[in-house]
Amino acid sequence: MGPTTFVAMSLRPIYGHEATLHRLAGAIASSRFPQAALFVGAAGVGKQRLALWVGQGLLCEAEAGAPCGRCHDCHQVLELQHPDLHWFVPIPRPTASDPEKQVTEAEELLAEVMAERRQQPFYQRPEGMHSHALASIRSLQRKVIMKPFQGSKKVVVVGDAERLVVQQASQEAANALLKVLEEPPRDTVLLLTTSEPQALLPTIRSRLVPLRVGRVGDGVVREFILREVDPALDAEALEARTLLAEGSIGRALWASEEGDTADQAAADLLRQIERGAGGWSRAALRQTPWAARGDFSATLDALAVRLRDRLMKRTQSGQELSGLLTALRLVEQTRAEAQGNANPQLALAVLGSELERLL
Ligand SMILES: [Zn+2]
Repeated sequence: MGPTTFVAMSLRPIYGHEATLHRLAGAIASSRFPQAALFVGAAGVGKQRLALWVGQGLLCEAEAGAPCGRCHDCHQVLELQHPDLHWFVPIPRPTASDPEKQVTEAEELLAEVMAERRQQPFYQRPEGMHSHALASIRSLQRKVIMKPFQGSKKVVVVGDAERLVVQQASQEAANALLKVLEEPPRDTVLLLTTSEPQALLPTIRSRLVPLRVGRVGDGVVREFILREVDPALDAEALEARTLLAEGSIGRALWASEEGDTADQAAADLLRQIERGAGGWSRAALRQTPWAARGDFSATLDALAVRLRDRLMKRTQSGQELSGLLTALRLVEQTRAEAQGNANPQLALAVLGSELERLL
């Protein structure tokens, strides 16, 4: 490649996760990497980015474990152009009536998303109704049967794998995926990611080797925000955003888009709770039409940040302090429950009455 050639890299570098990368590289280098794995960790923590890195390492010509970053395959992966790396993300449900046309539609929708990510590698959480429709899984099945285009293997990444079950006909999609997982061709590695492993069918989960992806340190989040998001952010805003991210690069990003709305909702909630007498609940429930579970989680996150803020900034009596700590624990507990099947409004009603007592 001549010195004048400029290669636009779509995928941004990985921030943090050094120990995980080291471990994954070791497994790739010694050919011990499982054929089907499930990256598990908090939302936005970098699971799909790590899965793509593993894919790059597996496809890299250097075969050294960690991707070399210089070979043709590495460049193609980084540009999201590698013909043997297939990345499936939740998409709107195809509308064609013919199942065959639905597969084509799903592939077009996925191609559109990939085109967007080549332009803008940082992405928001998938919309509430987007899913891995049966048509996507049919497409995946076909990709898995095909011979690799370039090298000796192919890699399939399925992000937000729990989105298999938020749709009708999900059973059929899950069964189709299960069939692939039961007998994956030798040349195929399947990498699924999820922040809600309990939402996956046990039959699917049991076929995958779990790989935990932890949070990164606040220092890494700060570095990420300053390098990739806003180098001009003032110290206070940087600190607030870092706190809100809680060790998740994705949440540091999302904070800009939805943080304001969530923070507004959290502020309203707190005001109403402090007004007391339970009057807040009806108003809060009426006023907060959560479009998606993610919005509810974001509001609880913002609520937690506000409570933590109070903990740090004010001088409280011992009683106030323990009330705040209990409140914070309850918010975090509710957030965890909201990731499962808890009804957000019911969960909020319970949380609200507890907070009214504590604050
Ligand atoms: Zn390489």
